[in-house]
Amino acid sequence: MNIAFIGLGNMGGGMAANLVKAGHAVRAFDLSTEALARAAEQGCTPCASVEEAVAGAEAVLSMLPNGAIVKAVLTQEVLGVAPKGAVLIDCSTIDLETAREVTLLAREAGYPMVDAPVSGGIAAASAGTLTFMVGGSDEAFARAEPVLEPMAKAVIRAGESGAGQIAKMCNNMLLAVHMIGTCEALKLAEKAGLDPQTFYDISSKSTGYCWSLNDYTPMAGVGAASPADNDYAGGFAAALMLKDLKLAMAGAEGAGAKVPLGGHAKAIYEAFVESGGGGKDFGAILTTL
Ligand code: NAD
Repeated sequence: MNIAFIGLGNMGGGMAANLVKAGHAVRAFDLSTEALARAAEQGCTPCASVEEAVAGAEAVLSMLPNGAIVKAVLTQEVLGVAPKGAVLIDCSTIDLETAREVTLLAREAGYPMVDAPVSGGIAAASAGTLTFMVGGSDEAFARAEPVLEPMAKAVIRAGESGAGQIAKMCNNMLLAVHMIGTCEALKLAEKAGLDPQTFYDISSKSTGYCWSLNDYTPMAGVGAASPADNDYAGGFAAALMLKDLKLAMAGAEGAGAKVPLGGHAKAIYEAFVESGGGGKDFGAILTTL
């Protein structure tokens, strides 16, 4: 299949490489020449513009920083330029309102579209083990699913347009709350005189069980390996978690949902990012306790 891929950064680079490995012809565009050169090394055809990348495309994927960029690229460079009927798949994490708006614009211009944000970080993008949460019509999902498969551990239809972004913001708000709670519990155990590893051994098999504790333990040398063992380098940056929490707060406001702990988690990550921690893994909240 002919696929156009726009945005070959930390996530998009690995994803496009897996499409090439699956036998697809991938035409790539990124504003960054370094990102484009890396994509070319992985077997993508580097293009000088979006217009060049979408020529002859049956599917157009985007993995971009935010909603404003996704909207600008789609409305100004893809709609009316890519072959009519090509399926548009936006894998970026963006606000719900923009996700729904661009899908509507795409549909009006003759393109089925899905929002398909992902869970799993850079390592999962490279390994082809992302979870895709997909919002869109039955028809659009049927077109998008086989394109997503080579990059995925799971491709799950969440519902109509925007439902993928709803699933993503809810998941990451929950993750933030779990992570902060895990950090607080590990620190409390230690300060109160319980060996944190012993606490891990007990709580990871008790009702405190959660991914942040069991599989991504945010304390160096305790429990599962995580960026904590490497001074919180790599992993999922606190600044990206803050981005996701801001999207969740905007989504909650739009939906009239009360999310007091989500709001508190956002304030905690905001303070951490403002104090210079934005580049550290999100488990580094432990160092503030
Ligand atoms: P990144 O900054 O590494 O990559 C984004 C790429 O988009 C960059 O290479 C940039 O040059 C390119 N770009 C920006 N504007 C462009 C334009 N107008 N035209 C073409 N290319 C353009 O970011 P990333 O970490 O790959 O994240 C991408 C998306 O995935 C974001 O929405 C992010 O929230 C989401 N996400 C990231 C992670 C993660 O762990 N990094 C995990 C899940 C979801």
